[in-house]
Amino acid sequence: MLKKYSVRCLVVTLLSFAPTRVVDSFGIIPALKSSPLSSSLFASSVAKADDKKVGLVNFADVPNEITEKNPLHVIIAGAGVGGLALANSLVKNPKMKVTLLEKTDQFKRFGGPIQLASNALEVIKTMDSTIYDEIMKVFTYTGDKENGIKDGIRDEWYAKFDLASPAESRNMAYGGVIERPDLQQIYLDALPDGVVKNGAGVVGYVRNKNGAGVEVQMDSGESVQGDVLIGADGIWSSVRASMRDEPKRGEGSGVSYSGYTVFAGELDYASHDNGQVGYKVYIGPNQYFVITDIGNDRYQWYAFLAKPAGSAALEEYPDGKVPYLGETFTGWSKDIHHILDATKENEVDQRDLYDRPPSVRKTWTDGSVALLGDAVHAMMPNLGQGGCQAIEDAFVIVNELEKCKTRNQLSGAMSKYRGRRLIRSAAVQGLSRFASDIIIRGFDTPAKIEKNENGSIKFGNFNYAGVVTRLLQPILPIFFTVQFNFLFDGWKNEFAVDTKATIGFIVFGGIILLLSAGSLEIGLVIGPLIEGLFGAEGLLLGGGEGVLGTEGVQNVIDAISSGIF
Ligand SMILES: Cc1cc2nc3c(=O)[nH]c(=O)nc-3n(C[C@H](O)[C@H](O)[C@H](O)COP(=O)(O)OP(=O)(O)OC[C@H]3O[C@@H](n4cnc5c(N)ncnc54)[C@H](O)[C@@H]3O)c2cc1C
Repeated sequence: MLKKYSVRCLVVTLLSFAPTRVVDSFGIIPALKSSPLSSSLFASSVAKADDKKVGLVNFADVPNEITEKNPLHVIIAGAGVGGLALANSLVKNPKMKVTLLEKTDQFKRFGGPIQLASNALEVIKTMDSTIYDEIMKVFTYTGDKENGIKDGIRDEWYAKFDLASPAESRNMAYGGVIERPDLQQIYLDALPDGVVKNGAGVVGYVRNKNGAGVEVQMDSGESVQGDVLIGADGIWSSVRASMRDEPKRGEGSGVSYSGYTVFAGELDYASHDNGQVGYKVYIGPNQYFVITDIGNDRYQWYAFLAKPAGSAALEEYPDGKVPYLGETFTGWSKDIHHILDATKENEVDQRDLYDRPPSVRKTWTDGSVALLGDAVHAMMPNLGQGGCQAIEDAFVIVNELEKCKTRNQLSGAMSKYRGRRLIRSAAVQGLSRFASDIIIRGFDTPAKIEKNENGSIKFGNFNYAGVVTRLLQPILPIFFTVQFNFLFDGWKNEFAVDTKATIGFIVFGGIILLLSAGSLEIGLVIGPLIEGLFGAEGLLLGGGEGVLGTEGVQNVIDAISSGIF
């Protein structure tokens, strides 16, 4: 399963490099120019859907030009991270009117902490410096601390991530953590009254085939008309289902169970390394455990286990989840048991993880309707980028919409948004899935030559996975550097994508995946590929020598290709 899905994921991700078509909106909505009438109705009409049959909607006419008097009405479905970031930026523009439709009846303080990496922070700062300042007041930096992977059994560092240098060299803020409810509240407090409509679950939409506009239908039977619809309604998106004429969930929806379930705990905790370590990923056979400092002496942990779909709902833990996990991680680091022992049952949550392969062949946009965030590129949480990528989507949508002077440019603007976001989001999405596959199914306790008490030599965990895990040890810090450079460089999502960095990111991730999966003859593949990546052009490392230097890289290649297998 690992090989098949992940290789498919890699192929799909690579396919996203195919040139994207940017549609000229002038060719798409020609009728609009001939229907310049009043827009007041159009901008705020809420009608009963029962009055009309889908496809026979009476659209109000609007002037083609976007002005303060006839502002662009942008409807956003879903007030999650991406929808809120988008709404906040758009409402500041006097030529925009925003309606944010949220399914839930009221906002609750719900959900644990979310990591905002330096790329997302830079986007937030650029979109709205006041919001950024508010976030900073309740933010806990982790990017300036020690972070990385630990051998879960031997309890020693395996590889560290250097998150600080890539941020410092670009004069960007360190990444860190914020409680989701705090982030949500900051965005909600900044929105003018009347923008957010709670209890407004979107079920679908109809586009005006004869001109501008879209009608959004809600589960209440009401509908609302506007110029633009952004589907920011999460992984089970109704807007996506309507756009692609496919189900929201299940077969045909494109959303698939990742193969993993996650238990998460959040608690007050006195950690021995508080202030020194940000987050630690404990690896070992078939599972992994993460401990993160989330500030104010609070910690979060995650336990990722490979289990069949439905385990979160169906599986019972008669003695409780904490004792179950204690047993599951028997023999692992005392840090894991220490934090589990400190966790109360009501501080633990479990959810199955779903994601989707990159939407390369399927549409992201339909005229002036577009998908954002998890609705189009739901990803595994391993890189902590799902929310960050939703925020980047919002940034690009604002950017493209603000360039439009007339309504008949909207369709083209949405296509440009897709063009600017496709490669980057697909790369992050693909690598997030690779990371889970590698860590859970590929990684093991690293092979190690140890001494017994009597002084004799013992070969610790010298199986395939253990040896590969050990061989990857010097490569991973380079991969992390490549990954963070890619993420931190590209936050503007300009058209001129840093193709070299992206290819490096994907190919390097692919090599690691293939090694971990044991899919290919190691010596045949790894030597030429790594040589290519680190060779004369210094593709990944931006010049001559790179982190390891030619000799160091050669040693890695030699070690890997030396026929150990
Ligand atoms: C365990 C875990 C840990 C994670 N950690 C991180 C992390 O550290 N950093 C990070 O960047 N990302 C992280 N993510 C990913 C991140 O949570 C998501 O990628 C992010 O929330 C997506 O934002 P969104 O706005 O697209 O969708 P969501 O945040 O899912 O918001 C969708 C909104 O739409 C509403 N909605 C749904 N259907 C409808 C409808 N029909 N009509 C109207 N409204 C609707 C929902 O109620 C919700 O408010 C993690 C995910 C998981 C599962």
